[in-house]
Order: sequence, then C-alpha cells, then structure tokens
Amino acid sequence: MRGAVFLGDRKVELRNFPDPTPGPGEVVIAMKASGMCGSDLKFYRSPPGEAQKALGLGGNAEPFIAGHEPCGVVVARGPGVSAREAPEGLRVMDHHYAGCGTCPHCRVGWSQLCRAGITVYGVTAHGGHADYLKVPVRTLVELPEQLSFAEGAAVACGTGTAFSALRRMKLCGGDTLAVFGQGPVGLSATVLGAAMGARVIAIETNAERRKLAMDFGADKVLDGDQVQKQLLEITKGQGVDFSLECSSAPAARQAAVRCVKTWGTACFVGEGGEVTLDVSPDLLRRQVTLIGSWTFSAMGMLECARFIADHKIKLEKIFSHRWKLEQAAEAYQSFDTQSTGKGVFLL
Ligand SMILES: [Zn+2]
Ligand SMILES: [Zn+2]
Repeated sequence: MRGAVFLGDRKVELRNFPDPTPGPGEVVIAMKASGMCGSDLKFYRSPPGEAQKALGLGGNAEPFIAGHEPCGVVVARGPGVSAREAPEGLRVMDHHYAGCGTCPHCRVGWSQLCRAGITVYGVTAHGGHADYLKVPVRTLVELPEQLSFAEGAAVACGTGTAFSALRRMKLCGGDTLAVFGQGPVGLSATVLGAAMGARVIAIETNAERRKLAMDFGADKVLDGDQVQKQLLEITKGQGVDFSLECSSAPAARQAAVRCVKTWGTACFVGEGGEVTLDVSPDLLRRQVTLIGSWTFSAMGMLECARFIADHKIKLEKIFSHRWKLEQAAEAYQSFDTQSTGKGVFLL
C-alpha cells in the first residue's frame, strides 16, 4: 500500500509499505478520508522527530505514515475481534490514541491520558495518510450515516476538540461565547456554539477566515484589534460568559481570560507556547474559571458526530482543499504557505 511520511524539514514522500495484517484485538480500515491538521505542520516543518519529542511523545527518527484524522471502513479483523464489534464494511472514525487499555483513563475512553505511555496514530505509529490503517478495535467509533467520510475525519480531531471544550465549559443556549482564532478548531467551535444556541463572537485577524466565520453562524466577527475593549462594548461592560482560545497566540490567550465576565469561564485548546497572566486581577478577583482542554474521549467523539448529524450541520464546508494521496507533497506545501483552510485526502 501507499503511505505519506514526513521526513522532516518540509519533506513529504509517498512510499510503499506492506499491506497491514491485523494482530489480536486489531482491525484494518480501508481509508476513505484522512484530514490534515495544524498540528501536522509541526511535524512537517521540524527536523526529523523533533516535534514529537517537544510534545512529550518520544522522538523516533524513523518516519511513520502521517495523518491522525482517519476515517474509513473496516476491511479485516484480527484474532479475537468479533463480527459484532467490527462488521466488515462498518463506516468508522478512529480515536487516534492507544494506551495500556486497562487503566482507569483507558477504560473510560480517555486513552490519551494513559500514564503507561501512549501510541498516537500518525505521530508515533502509522497513521491515516495511507490506503490502509491498522488499529486496536477499541479505538473505533462508528460514523453516523448522515456524515461523509471527510466530515468524520474533521470530527476525529479539530471538530471533536472544539465540541469537547464547549461541553467542558458547560456552554448553554443564550450565553455569549467569544472564539479566538478561526482555523479549523475555532470555526468548528463557532458552528457548534451557534447550534448549541450561544451568541458567538468570532475573533480572527485573517479576512478570509473572518468571512468563513460569518458563514458558520457567528453573530459578530472582530479582527482582533482592541478586542477586549470591543467585547466589553458588545456586552454592555459585562464581558462574555465564555471564551475559547484556539490560536495559541500569547496576546489572544491573555484577551481570552480578560474578556470573560466575573464568574465567567475561559478555555485554552491551542497547543504549545506560553501566556502571562496577572493572577489576581485576571483570575482571582473576578472568580474566573480557566480550563485547559486536550482533544476528547472516544465517546465524546461519537457524541460530537451525533450532534452534527442531529443538528444537520454542514461540516463539509470546513474543507478548503481536497487532495489525492499522490498529491501529498503538494498538499502540505500548500498548507504550509497559505494555511487559511483545512485540507483532506480522499481515497
Ligand atoms: Zn489534529
Ligand atoms: Zn491506560
């Protein structure tokens, strides 16, 4: 089979690999869609293995097949996997982490929190930018029939991350939500937040993304200039109920904390980097809750997919680029230089 690997320093290569054979407890998925994610750019741009090491995932200089937003159909089962668990042809997303499988985190579907060390498909093991993907059966999540494979790929990372963060914050209908950054995660938060009944104010410096945010149901879109002041004006001096920070920019993180009202909640989902807060005025004196949220559980992913199906959200339009696997090098070069949209490989 074919698989796209990051060689580091912006080199991508389509290589031939043996077709995977499922071992005990494993299945093989024929890939139908494999999303491209902002976090892939770290692996794409860095010297071989460096970005994985920086994320605490152990540096392995041997390149794995990239892609951690896999969606496809079950084509083979290993020993011990029943047809009931994974019938052939089942449309599935993959919760792209595997832990020990037995600790409390793994048992409740939060395998990425496993302390025994985790496998991240597409990062520390072969991922979805390939014809086939071999994973433990317990990582599969059924894709609702209303969702396309590409939409499933989006749910498998960025959109699921946005959904899980909004649930963690306990967003309610009628609340005001400020979403900082309108990349794929921020745009997902905008469309999901609006569908949950919140009034969404999207903040984004890029004009193209600001337009997308309006299409995704934002009530107002700000360009980031004097954003705290503007948010205070919009909320009659109170501040917003909730803010979600998806950009990782230190100034946006600060604004996301400072723009919430007294008793408000801010949540960070953007990876990496730093923030400086003045703890007493920014947090304590206003009873602010600050949440750090990393992706989602396997069942959280299913809940997200069902929500999208039930609310008839047209998630397809989150994709600006659709690629063939043989275009992998071109696809990542384009993503690297004009990263305003989300790409997906369709197989
Ligand atoms: Zn991702
Ligand atoms: Zn575990």
